[in-house]
Amino acid sequence: MAPKGRRLLVLFGTRPEAIKLFPVLARLAGDERFAVRVVATHQHRELLDGLLGPDAIRADHELAVMRPGQGPAETAARTLAGLDPVLAELSPEMLLVQGDTTSAFAGGLAAFYRGIPVAHVEAGLRSRDRCHPFPEEVHRRLLSVVADLHFAPRERDAEHLRAEGVESSRIHVTGNPVIDALRAIRARGLGGLERWVASEQLEGRRMLLVSAHRRESHDGPIAELCLGLRDLVERFPDLVVVFPVHANPAVRRAVTPILGGLKRVRLVEPLPYEAFAEAMARASLIVTDSGGVQEEAPALGRPVLVFREVTERVDGVEHHAARVVGREREGVVKEVARLLEDEHAYREMARPRDLYGDGRAAERIVGGLLHHFGLGERPEPFRSPSGPEAAGGPA
Ligand code: UDP
Repeated sequence: MAPKGRRLLVLFGTRPEAIKLFPVLARLAGDERFAVRVVATHQHRELLDGLLGPDAIRADHELAVMRPGQGPAETAARTLAGLDPVLAELSPEMLLVQGDTTSAFAGGLAAFYRGIPVAHVEAGLRSRDRCHPFPEEVHRRLLSVVADLHFAPRERDAEHLRAEGVESSRIHVTGNPVIDALRAIRARGLGGLERWVASEQLEGRRMLLVSAHRRESHDGPIAELCLGLRDLVERFPDLVVVFPVHANPAVRRAVTPILGGLKRVRLVEPLPYEAFAEAMARASLIVTDSGGVQEEAPALGRPVLVFREVTERVDGVEHHAARVVGREREGVVKEVARLLEDEHAYREMARPRDLYGDGRAAERIVGGLLHHFGLGERPEPFRSPSGPEAAGGPA
């Protein structure tokens, strides 16, 4: 029997896509107006299962496009080739993709080639530097050309889209579903961080949580970061660094020789989301090159130092929740030390703020889909406390 409801195919590959789409999938799951299928491009089982179970929002199709050492060209090619027959078989009325990964971009393109409309979650982010983050900034821009429906987290992202010629009627300002995800996962209670970092190691100490994986940081900058972290644990005897090290061999080759075996540095495997969320909440401060973490940290009131040259998440910077520290040892040491030594500066950055979402993004995204299909009213937009008008600066 043919499924009832509008045929929606949701695609994800990597951890951030799964995290940001799981609130949307959870909301779609009980809604008979949709017949939802899920396609995963990668196998990240250990990271995704905690999110997708136990009520089993499982991938209906797995494309298994990843090969060791594979570059973006091959990921894109394999995604296009793998997804096309799935699109042909299911003929969805819409493909939903999230963010700026190679798989999201190639998935959107595959749907476009088949004349299937594309909805893009986290649309309109721009760093204005094509090489930072690489290749994500270009994927974002290309997806905005391919997509029919754009779910922009903030009004400033919607403005970027309008400036590029996207019609307002196709844009919904929703907030970022990562904030929905963070709230949902924290509401479940502790996340099992204890399995990776014993409580005694943290007691009476200040914890610096680190995440770094960006492709453009592999050759050189990650080693600089590690040298800075080594300086910091030598200088601050109450500091513990917790660093879930990305599985990419290039990251591991840079990190282990500098930080391996150091006292008060815990190098751990990438953490499941619930454990990482607990780590963020327990950290005194966070150093990261991640996009998602820049959004989550201010919601938890944790100062975030951005290990990059530029960021598209400027709200955090404008509202003194984040600082861009560049990609050199000195910048990291200087800014972390400043926050560890200057209580006033620390407190100024450590106020919880809803800059990127209010926990209702999934509701607005599903509302936007219903509106697109003529099944509902246009949802009210998310009003960020940091629109360009509020911040008084350029988008
Ligand atoms: N994250 C996680 N485990 C980790 C490190 C990060 O669950 O060990 C989460 C983090 O909270 C955020 C997302 O993964 O929601 C960010 O993923 P990543 O840094 O890979 O990508 P980006 O946000 O830069 O696209």
